Amino acid sequence: MKIHAIQTGTVEIKKNQLVGKGPGALRLVNVLFGWEWLEPVPIYAWVIEHDEGVIVVDTGDTSRTSEPGYFPRWQPYYKLAARFHVKPEEEIGVQLKQMGIGPKDVRKVILTHMHTDHSGGLHHFPESQIFVNMPEYKRSLGLPGQINGYLPHRAPAWFSPSAIVFDENDYGPFQKVWNVTSKDDVKVVATEGHTPAHVSVIVVSEDINYFLAGDASYTEENLVKKIADGVGLNPNISVDTMQKIITFAKSRPTVFLPTHDPDSAKRLKNKTPLAVE
Ligand SMILES: [Zn+2]
Repeated sequence: MKIHAIQTGTVEIKKNQLVGKGPGALRLVNVLFGWEWLEPVPIYAWVIEHDEGVIVVDTGDTSRTSEPGYFPRWQPYYKLAARFHVKPEEEIGVQLKQMGIGPKDVRKVILTHMHTDHSGGLHHFPESQIFVNMPEYKRSLGLPGQINGYLPHRAPAWFSPSAIVFDENDYGPFQKVWNVTSKDDVKVVATEGHTPAHVSVIVVSEDINYFLAGDASYTEENLVKKIADGVGLNPNISVDTMQKIITFAKSRPTVFLPTHDPDSAKRLKNKTPLAVE
């Protein structure tokens, strides 16, 4: 089993999104109207070469984000708080092809959540079974979804995801787990916070675990410091999830791989586990 990091361009966000500020709805106001921008951060997607077929975790974003009118013009988040930089050759399908992986080779796609920088590459996977946590999918739909910052009208016409069905059994500190493979070496766990039904993927290998975290925390540093981002509705839920991830990483060496951490690919390559005391 081998895991690859695929970088599908970068996104610029504000300091107040990386480090959420203020109570309740004021957090989002601080994101929209904060003045301090950060250096561009990567948008990673993950490819697991597994005996049971290739599994892709998140699809990165699309170069269409730079087309005028791609985002709803009335949506303040895209106008005020995010700048995407994705070239056509950076889209995941192009990079998979260069690796010799075609659409038919990808058996499963798992989305940590429906935000555009995780689902914008869906059109590259017409042959795959695509799994989403249903409450997350439902939250992304229609006008309410667009108000919440999702782009349901940009999903491919054929998109009809399969539900992630969690087991009753706990997996370490996680109360909801779905074993994706028959060997139980790829698991989906519920990691609520960034969105209410956000999930992460754990890859279990002989000596070390890999935690494909989506946006459960934007960076390893924020995880260790338990800093909630500025877009999750309830920072306490984000912090609870971060505590679970830390507890999990104490039980077994775990490489922590969030979507937007500039060091994620390096940690994957060097198998650098999360340092927890
Ligand atoms: Zn997100």
